[in-house]
Amino acid sequence: QAKKAGRNAIRFFDPKMQDAINHLVNLDRELRVAIERQQFQLYFQVQVDIAGRPLGAEVLIRWIHPEHGTIFPPTFIPLAEDNGLIFTIGKWVLDMACAQLKAWELEASTRNLKLSINVSAKQFHQADFIKQVKTAIKNHAINPAMLKLELTESMLLDNIEDTIRTMNILKEIGIQFSLDDFGTGYSSLQYLKQLPLTQLKIDKSFVHDIAVDNSDQAIVRTTIVMAQTLNLEVIAEGVETIEQRNVLINSGCTCFQGFLFGQPMPIEQFVDQVKLM
Ligand code: C2E
Ligand code: MG
Ligand code: MG
Ligand code: MG
Repeated sequence: QAKKAGRNAIRFFDPKMQDAINHLVNLDRELRVAIERQQFQLYFQVQVDIAGRPLGAEVLIRWIHPEHGTIFPPTFIPLAEDNGLIFTIGKWVLDMACAQLKAWELEASTRNLKLSINVSAKQFHQADFIKQVKTAIKNHAINPAMLKLELTESMLLDNIEDTIRTMNILKEIGIQFSLDDFGTGYSSLQYLKQLPLTQLKIDKSFVHDIAVDNSDQAIVRTTIVMAQTLNLEVIAEGVETIEQRNVLINSGCTCFQGFLFGQPMPIEQFVDQVKLM
């Protein structure tokens, strides 16, 4: 016991550890300020079909910090999950996405675009998540079929029964689901077939070397065949080169997302981009 306390005391005075603690405390405090001052902004990254026509977008959050500039989600989403701020952030993203879909409905060039949003495990397993989604859809009077929720394998495994129940209720009202970062978790076919998914999203780590690495190519081909068997649409993320796109097309992939087609960007730019596509 004493030894343990002693070790902790030493750690406390380790300047590196103290830096880390200060950083976390600051980040936590700044994240609360960011919510109050509305420093978050949504970026949109286009998703396209084989012909390169826009199908929709993935919504990616950015924190526009007054001093540090743009901060990317891996820096603050995990912290927001730990301290519970993800509830507020997630609700905001959902509401903004529905508002955007409504605005798109009114214009011919954007009417058919779908929106995918990333949902955190904590947010998804919240008791009133279903109500949140229903409320956002109702408040903005949007067609639920235009909204796709991106979930990850690990969060689904967390509580599989609860997950399936929640997904089925939302599916009934027309919401679609995509399994994000597919291949990085531990999906067994057994539970994959139980989930009411519409889409599998092949993780960018498999796409990166697909034009040069035979095993990545084999993994992607197998994934696509499996998805087809389960009647799921397949989208590849992180597509940066024409070579990658060509291998993906030859492997049977039908939807694409990545820098090759467009960076994530603010809404005005995104709409301009789509009009030219
Ligand atoms: P994700 O959902 O897998 O998103 C894909 C990430 O890849 C995004 O990073 C995107 O900017 C990046 N990306 C897109 N195209 C390319 C490409 O061609 N090459 C490469 N190397 N990267 C590409 P980002 O925006 O930093 O987001 C990271 C993660 O943060 C997301 O991964 C998602 O898990 C999470 N996230 C983003 N926005 C939200 C949000 O609103 N709510 C929640 N809960 N999580 C979010
Ligand atoms: Mg995603
Ligand atoms: Mg992903
Ligand atoms: Mg990812």
